[in-house]
Amino acid sequence: MKTPVLYIVIPCYNEEKVLPITSKEFLQKLKDLINRGQISDKSRILFVNDGSKDSTWDIIRALSNSDEHYIGIAQSRNRGHQNAVLAGLMEAKELCDITISIDCDGQDDINAMDQMIEEYQNGCEVVYGVRSKRDTDTFFKRATAEGFYKLLNVLGVEVVFNHADYRLVSSKVLKEFANFTEVNIFLRGMFPLVGFKSTSVYYERHERVAGESHYPLSKMLALAFEGITSLSIKPIRMITFIGIFISFLSFVGVAWTVLMHYLGQSVAGWASTTSIICFIGGVQLVSLGVLGEYIGKIYMEVKRRPRYIISERTGEEVKR
Ligand code: UDP
Ligand code: MG
Repeated sequence: MKTPVLYIVIPCYNEEKVLPITSKEFLQKLKDLINRGQISDKSRILFVNDGSKDSTWDIIRALSNSDEHYIGIAQSRNRGHQNAVLAGLMEAKELCDITISIDCDGQDDINAMDQMIEEYQNGCEVVYGVRSKRDTDTFFKRATAEGFYKLLNVLGVEVVFNHADYRLVSSKVLKEFANFTEVNIFLRGMFPLVGFKSTSVYYERHERVAGESHYPLSKMLALAFEGITSLSIKPIRMITFIGIFISFLSFVGVAWTVLMHYLGQSVAGWASTTSIICFIGGVQLVSLGVLGEYIGKIYMEVKRRPRYIISERTGEEVKR
């Protein structure tokens, strides 16, 4: 088998503290793999600047001048992690045989790449990086994240448990994946749909080397609500929350009316009527909200807006 060309796709958003540290580690890893003959010397580290407001793009440009193995593309504005990874994968798919997407903050163990590439050589087209432990995450992050995977599975969404977006995907799979044209993208739930032979590789997740997570609870919740939020869907989502709130109040209301009934302070029939009105009101609003969620998604899909816009590229390698 010929030595494959590997592109490591790395989304970066406001990572000026992190990049100077981890970029060296990525390059070292790439060179080790090249020297061992596991990948071709044409392999590259592709940074995707996701509209950073700090000096991230300047750092990427400087890196690309310092070593030909570094290249970068810049999104025209911040579009979020998923879109940044997608932009990088779509850019890479014509230029390489395999891609590995990984965060730039050093949390994912780069040594798992060796095994990922071995699995590719053994015939797997997709290799999922799975966190074997989450010791470095807070209890809250771990509990919510694991609950999220379980919920997705209950809802019939096929995702690999404890796999985020650290994965090897061959260009063969990416070419098929390019036909999945939805704008609401949730990559880890989409690759299982593309199919092809896949496997998992286990690694331990570390602490961020520097800087702070861009995924606070609010962003994690948004991801849980089928991946991507957008401003125009928010009002509809609020209906859902109002519905849940009213449902909760109605339970209190039910308890109260039942109590009043037994205390003999109510007109016959009043308790049951009030309970039912409260309960149904809440349920109806929740249902409306859920329907609204789907209508919002359809609204975003029919617009067919571009999923990413690349405004700049470093060097010559990625010019088309
Ligand atoms: N990221 C991005 N766009 C964003 C937010 C994050 O490209 O809008 C990148 C970020 O630079 C990092 C990766 O996505 O490489 C994961 O983000 P982070 O480490 O903040 O999330 P966590 O690991 O805490 O879930
Ligand atoms: Mg991180």
